[in-house]
Amino acid sequence: MPVPEYDLVVIGAGVVGSALAREFTLRGRSVALVDARSDVGDATSKANTAILHTGFDATPGTTESRLVARGYRLLSDYAAKAGIPVEPLGALLVAWDDEQLAALPGLAEKAAANGYHETRLLDPAELARREPHLGPGALGALEVPGESIICPWTTTLAFATEAVRHGAELLLGHTVTGAEPGAGHTVLHTDRGPVRARSVVNAAGLGSDHVHAMFGHESFTITPRRGQLIVFDKLARSLVNHILLPVPTKMGKGVLVSPTVYGNVMLGPTAEDLTDRSATESTEDGLAMLREKGNRIVPALLREEVTTIYAGLRAATEFGDYQISFHPDQRYVCVGGIRSTGLTSSLAIAEYVGAELAGWPGEAMPGPRADVVPPQMPYLGQVDVRPAEDAELIAKDRAYGEIVCFCERVSRGEIRDALHSEIAPSTVEGLRRRTRAGMGRCQGFYCGAVVSRMVDEGADAPVKAEAVK
Ligand SMILES: Cc1cc2nc3c(=O)[nH]c(=O)nc-3n(C[C@H](O)[C@H](O)[C@H](O)COP(=O)(O)OP(=O)(O)OC[C@H]3O[C@@H](n4cnc5c(N)ncnc54)[C@H](O)[C@@H]3O)c2cc1C
Repeated sequence: MPVPEYDLVVIGAGVVGSALAREFTLRGRSVALVDARSDVGDATSKANTAILHTGFDATPGTTESRLVARGYRLLSDYAAKAGIPVEPLGALLVAWDDEQLAALPGLAEKAAANGYHETRLLDPAELARREPHLGPGALGALEVPGESIICPWTTTLAFATEAVRHGAELLLGHTVTGAEPGAGHTVLHTDRGPVRARSVVNAAGLGSDHVHAMFGHESFTITPRRGQLIVFDKLARSLVNHILLPVPTKMGKGVLVSPTVYGNVMLGPTAEDLTDRSATESTEDGLAMLREKGNRIVPALLREEVTTIYAGLRAATEFGDYQISFHPDQRYVCVGGIRSTGLTSSLAIAEYVGAELAGWPGEAMPGPRADVVPPQMPYLGQVDVRPAEDAELIAKDRAYGEIVCFCERVSRGEIRDALHSEIAPSTVEGLRRRTRAGMGRCQGFYCGAVVSRMVDEGADAPVKAEAVK
């Protein structure tokens, strides 16, 4: 069988790899987006805190600080066009002791050094007015009005869908096991056969150092840094008005309390350096630590029901910056070590790499097409009207009025659309990320069986009334 050949192969279909694949297809390249997993966005990109960062607290002068700030603008604009839910709630960095209070003006200066000038100091009275459920003892806060919450699942899916729509081939279930870089092209070995490309971009997240080594480079090592989170019921939503951030430490942004675009409230994440790159389980210690911190920030939150817990692994390295490097002699780019901010910076990383690659001898890529309309994503947020509440839509197609998941108000029409979409889910979990079916307070207890049957039998399987009672 002939070996498939592309202008570019992107390894890793997380939010970063999907943004890269989109960028290259919009520049007219033939692209394969390769991932070991069975779905896009199935690794770190599905399990983060879903904040669209302004980049106010990045280390000034780093690649990360530049790309987060640029990514914030690009993704805000893209999300508005693609229907990705974003809520610009703003963040409050709350000081709980004198040392933290003294650090706030320095953080405002750091924000300004990052080009973000909208921060403002709040005194305890204003803080209490803005966040009446905050625990006792808060001494003040720094307000960062631009910080926003976003849906991470539809973000990755939108990029990948747009890439596929413009011709990218999605090679899921392909683990890259080796690379043979040559003068004119590279042969990538996968467990499903070889793939050839003129250029290769490594966006393999937690595996980015391993892929880097396949090209003979050993300039960084990934240390998976686990972040565990607790998601509280939607009844807790009225307790929190902003993203409540701690004053950051060297280990990261610390434990936050934040609403989600789905109407829940989230507490986390932890920051634990591990060696196991698959350790996404939650632990008793981790959850106890979160509960203790959360109890100080918003005590009433801890009395609310927990909907779910989850954990993600940041691709941390021994360096304080992204590990993006260009190797034109091998026609290879490493986009590794994209740790705590990759969701926000994804489009900016893609823009940066695309522009750099376009300058390589022989590449001569045109700029990205400006005339394309992003795909319209299914709306998973709480602020706008969901299909199951849209009488006009239901009048046109009654499938949108047939509710399958009552907790999240997901209709058969939405599940059908997801199963018919360009990147259809092959698992119940994948369907959950596209529709939120089974993500509500009952966690699929009532709708689980019917949702599984729809995934197994296909989009047009009827919803039996008794199955959803
Ligand atoms: C707890 C937590 C909170 C976070 N909060 C935020 C936040 O609020 N805002 C924000 O902007 N960012 C946040 N982040 C960071 C953000 O989630 C990541 O930076 C981003 O998801 C990284 O995307 P990625 O595409 O690089 O990696 P991934 O999503 O991990 O994708 C990499 C892909 O590469 C594939 N792969 C690896 N090796 C191979 C191989 N050999 N062959 C084939 N495929 C391979 C994997 O299967 C995977 O799908 C957070 C991260 C965590 C863990």
